[in-house]
Amino acid sequence: MDVIFHGVRGSTPTADHNFLKYGGSTTCTEILHDQFQIIFDAGTGFQDVAILKDRPTYLIFSHFHYDHIQGLPFNHQIFDPSNKVTISSGLVKADQLREVFVRAFQPMYFPIPLVDTLKNLKFVEFDLIVTDLSDLCSLSTIKLNHPGGAAGYIVEKNDKKVCVFLDHEYGLEPIIDNELVDNAKDSDLIVWDGMFLDEELPPKKGWGHSSIEQGIAFSEKTSCKSLAIAHHAPTRNDEQLNEHSNNLTSDKVFFAYQGLSHSV
Ligand SMILES: [Zn+2]
Ligand SMILES: [Zn+2]
Repeated sequence: MDVIFHGVRGSTPTADHNFLKYGGSTTCTEILHDQFQIIFDAGTGFQDVAILKDRPTYLIFSHFHYDHIQGLPFNHQIFDPSNKVTISSGLVKADQLREVFVRAFQPMYFPIPLVDTLKNLKFVEFDLIVTDLSDLCSLSTIKLNHPGGAAGYIVEKNDKKVCVFLDHEYGLEPIIDNELVDNAKDSDLIVWDGMFLDEELPPKKGWGHSSIEQGIAFSEKTSCKSLAIAHHAPTRNDEQLNEHSNNLTSDKVFFAYQGLSHSV
């Protein structure tokens, strides 16, 4: 499987020459395999995803904060009726999911009624896509700690395991954290919400994000092979991220950047 980071910025896109290395697009993570394509979230990075016609395409949402949905209409390939995209979420039922996008992309906020226009988008129950995919891979969802709720995902294929845990606030709900550690054990890759530094956390308690240092600790607890820090703060520029990257004490942790493809 290839894990492709199309957007690694949290909260809001950044567009400035100091943000070119890690990129300014908001969160969108693709898992690409010869037999399937799974895209987690459609932040502005979604505009760069190539929707493939030779395998099923699943677009799965962790939650519906703007930075995870706002790219949906800006990938011009979804306006091609022959591109069938199955949309789902472990957080809500299919009819609620459809309603989220009907409301978010209606003429008050967007020029056309997107969901009614795009008949090639199919909203389905999460259990159904798990069954759909069962011959190709194992997909499961896990609860994250985030205001309004968020769903993490675990994809397993041929003894390889990838966990996508965006957005999550570590250290507030031990039951949730322990479940995450147990389920992420020995992962080949964990995608981690490293929005903050430890020193920035106290005034941001309850905002729903973890720190870079917590990601390092999580990588040790889970004995994973690698952990990608993502969902970078929109204020953290390339120079600052480079500095944190150079100071990393773990060689299995790295900072994801826009356009990175990581094979597991
Ligand atoms: Zn977010
Ligand atoms: Zn969020």
